[in-house]
Amino acid sequence: MTVSYRAIRGTKDILPIDSPKWQSVENTIRDVMHLWNYREIRTPAFEETGLFARGIGELTDIVAKEMYTLKDRSDTSITLKPEMTASVVRAYLQNNLGKQLPLVKVYYIAAMFRQERPQAGRLRQFHQFGAEAIGSPYPEVDAELIGLSVAVYERFGIRNALLKVNSVGCPLCRPRYKELLKSYLKPLLPKLSEETQHRYESNPLRILDSKEESDREIIAGAPMIKDHLCTECADHFRTLQEQLGQMKLKFEVDGRIVRGLDYYTRTAYEIISPDLGSQDALAGGGRYDLLVKELGGKETPAVGFAAGIERLLMVLEKQKYDFQAEVNVTVFLAATDDAGRAWSLERARELRAAGLACEVDLLKRSLKAQMKEADRQRVRFVIIVGDKELKDGAATVRNMKSGVQEQVKFDRILDHLKAR
Ligand code: AMP
Repeated sequence: MTVSYRAIRGTKDILPIDSPKWQSVENTIRDVMHLWNYREIRTPAFEETGLFARGIGELTDIVAKEMYTLKDRSDTSITLKPEMTASVVRAYLQNNLGKQLPLVKVYYIAAMFRQERPQAGRLRQFHQFGAEAIGSPYPEVDAELIGLSVAVYERFGIRNALLKVNSVGCPLCRPRYKELLKSYLKPLLPKLSEETQHRYESNPLRILDSKEESDREIIAGAPMIKDHLCTECADHFRTLQEQLGQMKLKFEVDGRIVRGLDYYTRTAYEIISPDLGSQDALAGGGRYDLLVKELGGKETPAVGFAAGIERLLMVLEKQKYDFQAEVNVTVFLAATDDAGRAWSLERARELRAAGLACEVDLLKRSLKAQMKEADRQRVRFVIIVGDKELKDGAATVRNMKSGVQEQVKFDRILDHLKAR
């Protein structure tokens, strides 16, 4: 059979066989978020293009190459959201959330869209969970947010994830450092990969997180921003590390964690899994004290992180995580004729209202085929009804585990099932 339409490259169906895993993972994420007192925020799937261009930065890969941007019928340029932070800040400003609460702590679980080259762990529609805390400049909130993201992975029993932290400074110390980095790299430019050479002018900090093996050697000898911070940024970074230590979080300082986005200040961090291939980042985040003002608000400090759900699932599958995701119905109502089927439909409605998940034969199969189906679906009970049972006012109820079969009066069925 030829299929006329296929899902767009880089997008995936989450099929009924997998959706219970997603639900289980999402429930656990929500649970942890609520324990840390973060409240859910949901924003639209698309926004005005300008929000992302401004909020993420024209020079980033996301804005320059990866956005799904289109003109709608009234000629407005809209973009499917490639990340959540800009949208959260837009909602924060538009709804005056800062007026209601001095520190706004929100989380999300949502689909993101980026036109990247699809590969293992990299999709064009993917899903992220994440959190943002808007309103505090103190390193304690960075520590809490990092602690929260680590807590999610701990809750899933992931023990080998690696936390790497860095500081990317502020508008006071970063420009000085950029010049230092550029003068170190200048004589080495011809040896760097083509992509990295492009970044030299546009986004030199991003050179530090180049994945190219040949670049990495050169980068290893580069000055790192963490060693060139202004006093305030250095204090902030030191306190953060002390706080992480006090929270008993294992971490390493890695000067190459820089984040691709322009609005990041000070703390930048990543959580890496050795169970992923070349795309090994589970989560990334940091402080973005410049964004709220950039998007038209008053200067407001903030921190956040975003984490890939597909990558989390990859790690969980690899570690044979028990998703406890079997969803079997409890009762199968088998009918031997149309009258029995009509009775089944009505009775199933009652049983469902009482909280029992039911399946009815909707394919008019033979009793034998229905029993086979009930077995395949691993139900606990089968209720068999046909002409004879209707006359007697009693159904045959089979306990599939014990194999015991009993005649049960219609009005006793619910009690009978609940007692077992
Ligand atoms: P970012 O917003 O780029 O910092 O990404 C945060 C996290 O989202 C990454 O660490 C990944 O786990 C995940 N992620 C980012 N881009 C993709 C993608 N194209 N496909 C799947 N997961 C992604």
